[in-house]
Amino acid sequence: DQMMHPSDYYQFDDLLTSEEQAVRMKVRECMEKEIAPIMTQYWEKAEFPFHVVPKIAALRIAGGTIKGYGCPGLSITGAAISVAEVARVDGSCSTFLLVHSSLAMLTIALCGSEAQKQKFLPSLAQLNTIACWGLTEPDYGSDASALRTTATKVEGGWILEGQKRWIGNSTFADVLVIFARNATTNQINGYIVKKDAPGLTATKIENKIGLRMVQNGDILLKKVFVSDEDRLPGVNSFKDTSKVLAVSRVMVAWQPIGISMGVYDMCHRYLKERKQFGAPLAAFQLNQQKLVQMLGNVQAMVLVGWRLCKLYESGKMTPGQASLAKAWTSSKARETVSLGRELLGGNGILADFLVAKAFCDLEPIYTYEGTYDINTLVTGREITGLASFKPAS
Ligand code: FAD
Repeated sequence: DQMMHPSDYYQFDDLLTSEEQAVRMKVRECMEKEIAPIMTQYWEKAEFPFHVVPKIAALRIAGGTIKGYGCPGLSITGAAISVAEVARVDGSCSTFLLVHSSLAMLTIALCGSEAQKQKFLPSLAQLNTIACWGLTEPDYGSDASALRTTATKVEGGWILEGQKRWIGNSTFADVLVIFARNATTNQINGYIVKKDAPGLTATKIENKIGLRMVQNGDILLKKVFVSDEDRLPGVNSFKDTSKVLAVSRVMVAWQPIGISMGVYDMCHRYLKERKQFGAPLAAFQLNQQKLVQMLGNVQAMVLVGWRLCKLYESGKMTPGQASLAKAWTSSKARETVSLGRELLGGNGILADFLVAKAFCDLEPIYTYEGTYDINTLVTGREITGLASFKPAS
């Protein structure tokens, strides 16, 4: 079976429609042939490989589930499996796409006006223009709803003033979705800022130990003018931002799944090929135990991710369910990949053997889109009816 990799132990493909299988195959082939050979080199240099963007664009996965406006209109499972197949080969590449597609494009699709959707989405879907999504600030990470960047009404538009931190793709994005506090109503609003807006600068954050290829930036907004037509009419409070996050967390939950699949497949092959004490590494009980533990984790993660997609499709998914899946897959993937790192011995610390790179890439994934703890508290609030984000005073 062409689709069968050792990590597909419970034959996940049988759960997919033929369209979803085709997307999976198309993404897998492109990632393995075109992208895998160059990723380590760019990861090491901490540079973004702009020349692969047309290859990713040709896959027609940017825009994911969005229908119309030149977007692919994939099923949520199809979109999720495309994220996993990209992440299977490279975490940075999948993060680049997620920020662009599941955060920025989705915000425009869910909260934008008809005119904004027509103006921005077609070119973003083709990756002719690139987007970023700016919520986090230097002093407001987990506590993002308290953000301090302000939007003040002036004739014909708004003046944005403040700072953003960690924003992926921001150093080269053409379109920046920025969240700011309306100076009059005190509510969170959303704005589309263009790359060349006077007063806007984005500086690359250096020395990351994970997702090194992704260009994360510190954004400075100094009296940046945004016209009325570029305010997102559907973002009127932090709740609207949370709605986007709940959907994009479905996609983010699939990144650790894809990364774990890639690592398991690599380890499975490696243990059969390398010999010590006159036998393949795969023949030792301790190694088999680690391999089987990894495999069990991957199967459970895939099934949780798949069920989450089905709940979403039937309109029943809750934010707590999405948060639990994101927190749980990123934590299980950390365990899985660290076992893989052990199994490769010394080669487990070389980026060239995939596993060490995956090990590092999982660290920011564990932390972004809500840390493990914050997503735990989102689910905790949902199942108990009691919010515990703020310490008791
Ligand atoms: P903090 O909020 O300072 O948290 C530190 C620790 O305290 C964590 O362990 C956290 O879980 C814990 N903690 C905080 N509050 C509580 C609480 N109430 N209860 C229990 N524990 C708590 N943001 C964007 O807007 N756009 C992006 O594109 C983007 N990309 C990113 C890419 C990378 C590589 C990274 C690292 C981050 C990115 N982020 C982005 C920001 C990311 O979402 C934040 O880092 C994240 O929300 C955590 O915020 P913080 O780093 O300020 O940590």
